[in-house]
Amino acid sequence: MKFLCVDCDAQMRYEERELPGDGTLAVMFACPTCGRKVALLTNPMETQLVSSLGVKIGGRTVPDQPLETVRTQLGTGADGALVDEDTRRAPAWSAAAEDRLARVPGFVRGMVRRLYSEWAKERGIEEITPEVMDAARKELGLEEM
Ligand SMILES: [Zn+2]
Repeated sequence: MKFLCVDCDAQMRYEERELPGDGTLAVMFACPTCGRKVALLTNPMETQLVSSLGVKIGGRTVPDQPLETVRTQLGTGADGALVDEDTRRAPAWSAAAEDRLARVPGFVRGMVRRLYSEWAKERGIEEITPEVMDAARKELGLEEM
């Protein structure tokens, strides 16, 4: 299992890993040729699954569209870069929720923001607060994120 940079046909190199200590895992890979980056974020159940398979954390088949988005936007590291294109009904973030999001490791912050945004959007929640994050993370298995 490994990530390949489609454009370069090169195997992406492991760059950075975060283990928040709660069972979640975030791993970043970069293409040695063009420098594009992808990050893998797993919840505790997925982390355990990957560990139990005895494989080094690597790639899996990712649909073209999300991968395009991830590697394009993570290169810039912009917060909120991964929020849906459809922002019309995207929930707002309260100042307290933004503060908490700021404590998430930078290279996966956009992805975590998107997970919360999608969770809230699906439930018709208009503003993300720490209370909403508490409810979402229990359900998503993202303790401490
Ligand atoms: Zn490349």
